[in-house]
Amino acid sequence: MNITNNISSVPYNTFGLEVNISTLIELNSKEDFSSLHTVLQGKEYHILGGGSNVLLLNDVTAPVLHINTKGLEVIKESDDYVLVKMQAGESWHEAVLWAVAHNYGGIENLSLIPGKCGAAPMQNIGAYGVEVKDVLHAVTAYKLEDGYEYTFHNEECEFGYRTSNFKTIWKDKFIITSIILRLSKEGHHTLNTSYGAIEKELADRGIVQPTISDLSEVVIAIRQSKLPYPEEVGNAGSFFKNPIISMSLYEELVSEYPHMPSYPIDAASVKVPAGWLIDQCGWKGKVIGQTGTYKNQALVLVNHGGASGKEIYALSEDIKISVRQKFKIDLEREVNVWR
Ligand code: FAD
Ligand code: NAP
Repeated sequence: MNITNNISSVPYNTFGLEVNISTLIELNSKEDFSSLHTVLQGKEYHILGGGSNVLLLNDVTAPVLHINTKGLEVIKESDDYVLVKMQAGESWHEAVLWAVAHNYGGIENLSLIPGKCGAAPMQNIGAYGVEVKDVLHAVTAYKLEDGYEYTFHNEECEFGYRTSNFKTIWKDKFIITSIILRLSKEGHHTLNTSYGAIEKELADRGIVQPTISDLSEVVIAIRQSKLPYPEEVGNAGSFFKNPIISMSLYEELVSEYPHMPSYPIDAASVKVPAGWLIDQCGWKGKVIGQTGTYKNQALVLVNHGGASGKEIYALSEDIKISVRQKFKIDLEREVNVWR
């Protein structure tokens, strides 16, 4: 365990926001978790992975637990699948590349998502038609209150669209220590190429029967061409969730906006891309002081340099108001706001 006091938050959040972190506690091993109880003595705390989904509004006075435990290990193998245990502090993207290199399938569409493995179940990370819940076997998590480690199987986590119990009722109560994924072996892969951008990129490359490695490369190429690199422009990916609206509101809106993109969820609800709604309100690529929305994707709020978390939050409030006024839709923040 390493404890540092009064340090800058800049290296610890992909928005590049500058606040003071009073106490940063690096957790590097399993033993470090057991001594936490004594170190914290009942104090409130924050949990931090790679900082790619947090918005820091103020100096952080509560201790920050920075999860740094490493390890990727096959713990069970059969003819058609493997169970892989990933320690919470492993880089998610490196874990995906490791799986692809070993020809273990299921997470290739989730290539190049920033952050750490421990945060993946939090909001049930998803991209290009795949969510981590599709392959998640179990999560182990440490409960500071009683000092025990718990194992939750997939169905106990109550995964939903960019959510789980870890993001709601268990938030900051359980520290995820590792995740176990069930990944397919060669001859048993189920590839998901349903998103238009993937189909197009595969076709452009003349690939008819893609491998998981092809799919990972294609996803990386699409993301690199579309999304801002946090090292260049501070951001936390999609700031809001894509709203899921009722069929009746959808029918009302589509009669007024016939080109509104939409994806059916079930007979009663429809998903509408938040980026399109924000763009229609005139926000795409707008620069307001040191903040704004990204020029290629209005859903990504950015720090052009020197912005504060409060400025970004204020911009998100203005965006919410204009989307509500124009479309009667309440956008919900996906980013975790630290107040
Ligand atoms: P952090 O930002 O450090 O933490 C996020 C939340 O999880 C916080 O509330 C924190 O307290 C909690 N937390 C972190 N670790 C633990 C733990 N071990 N135990 C308990 N709680 C914990 N997300 C997607 O779903 N799909 C995408 O395609 C995607 N693309 C992105 C692209 C860019 C350029 C960026 C910047 C972000 C993107 N994101 C995406 C969002 C983000 O990368 C993910 O949500 C990621 O899982 C966050 O991981 P992290 O380690 O950085 O978490
Ligand atoms: P996009 O391709 O421009 O599409 C816009 C939205 O439409 C996406 O958010 C996606 O919803 C939805 N969509 C597109 N094709 C769909 C299909 N065939 N079926 C169902 N829904 C469909 O999106 P993008 O911004 O470039 O992002 C591409 C993927 O990466 C998306 O899956 C997105 O979620 C993910 N991503 C996430 C973050 C984040 O921070 N959460 C950041 C960047 C990218 P879904 O979002 O539900 O997939």
